[in-house]
Amino acid sequence: DVMIEASALTKRYGAVRALDKVSFEVHRGEVVGFLGPNGAGKSTTMRILTCFISASAGMARVHGYDVFDEPLEVRRKLGYLPQRAPLYGEMSVWEYLSFVADMRNLDRSVFRKRMKGVVEVCGLAQSLGRDIRTLSHGYRQRVGLAQALVHDPPILILDEPTSDLDPNEKAEVIRYIKEIGKERTILLSTHNLSEVETACARAIIVSKGRVVADGPLDGIRARS
Ligand code: ADP
Ligand code: ADP
Repeated sequence: DVMIEASALTKRYGAVRALDKVSFEVHRGEVVGFLGPNGAGKSTTMRILTCFISASAGMARVHGYDVFDEPLEVRRKLGYLPQRAPLYGEMSVWEYLSFVADMRNLDRSVFRKRMKGVVEVCGLAQSLGRDIRTLSHGYRQRVGLAQALVHDPPILILDEPTSDLDPNEKAEVIRYIKEIGKERTILLSTHNLSEVETACARAIIVSKGRVVADGPLDGIRARS
């Protein structure tokens, strides 16, 4: 059951070739690490999969929907944590999550019922009344995870959710992601191999816009 399919994705920014025929599949229930150094093309791939930018060539599907032709369906199936967090206004965690739910036209009663679980799995139950701007980076990333979950998507795309966090916060956020991954398909980008080892059974390694390795972590360790 293929949940994410990228097929020969190529992206040029002017003369820069950010992606060069990137192909991979992610199956239902997998938590896959998307591993590579800065500039490898991770964000570009994720922004194509989430319909924020278009590819120069190639195609991609999410939950069977074409990212170019069916962006609304794709967005309904996806939760996305972009690399850069939004600028938060003066809003509590609860107000922000309600706002995201409203933007997604979720029914209020559905949202309220679902939020309990989301807030629990992201470790925010004690922080709902806090002004987001007063939270630590680690807690803000938990809010980022929670906003990606409000519409209960089967697939999550997380773009370097642990960058800029201290080691304790990183470990904590990875623990939440692992827990969330028990019930969802996740593509998780990072440049940190140990995080992938903790959270993922498989890694796709990208370098200079190409997939250079793809497989179970044991195999990838043996090769490097
Ligand atoms: P990663 O997420 O792995 O760090 P990116 O996808 O952000 O990699 O970047 C891949 C390449 O594309 C890099 O060379 C980067 O400089 C370039 N790039 C990314 N976004 C743009 C843009 N908007 N305009 C021009 N070049 C870009
Ligand atoms: P549209 O152009 O269709 O109105 P926007 O790009 O303005 O859509 O996005 C509407 C809201 O949905 C924004 O909050 C945006 O961050 C969020 N969003 C858009 N695409 C995704 C996605 N793939 N996954 C999660 N949230 C998304």
